Amino acid sequence: KSGFVSIIGRPNVGKSTFLNRVIGQKIAIMSDKPQTTRNKVQGVYTADDSQIIFIDTPGIHKPKHRLGDFMMKVATNALREVDAILFMVNVTEPRGAGDEFIIEKLKGLDTPIILVMNKIDLIHPDEIPAVIEQYTNQLDFAAYVPISALQGNNVEPLLKEIKKLL
Ligand code: GDP
Ligand code: MG
Repeated sequence: KSGFVSIIGRPNVGKSTFLNRVIGQKIAIMSDKPQTTRNKVQGVYTADDSQIIFIDTPGIHKPKHRLGDFMMKVATNALREVDAILFMVNVTEPRGAGDEFIIEKLKGLDTPIILVMNKIDLIHPDEIPAVIEQYTNQLDFAAYVPISALQGNNVEPLLKEIKKLL
């Protein structure tokens, strides 16, 4: 199985840390370069049974500058072309404006979305259902996966969920 996956989340939720863990050190350096192309490959995960190409979609997760309607449309259309979207949130912070921005862009897409709840090393497992509740009314998720990108907890199960969608 092989396919394309986009990781979306507001700054500092742990996207680069996750990519580093899954793919390796070089990629983080790559992903900090200015984004010039529509779908920039951030890294490729290769296993015996599968290949997952992680791509970056400019404009969705880094709303630093106001994008014109056209650019926003280009960015949103790029999300229609991937096999799955990882919407990464930080479990130690409440849903915020950055998350709302992303949720609005994800609404109405047919692409399956996995809610990736990162930084679970910083909370008690009992708190996870409350995190799910913050997002579940907003979007239909294909799966909910709590992880610690930093410590590696549950990263394998997440890869398994992604493979189901390829
Ligand atoms: P990005 O902006 O989404 O790419 O976020 P980064 O990957 O740069 O991470 C932002 C900060 O959060 C860094 O200091 C990371 O070390 C930290 N971080 C990322 N994942 C985790 C995690 O699972 N647990 C903890 N405790 N910290 C994390
Ligand atoms: Mg980053």
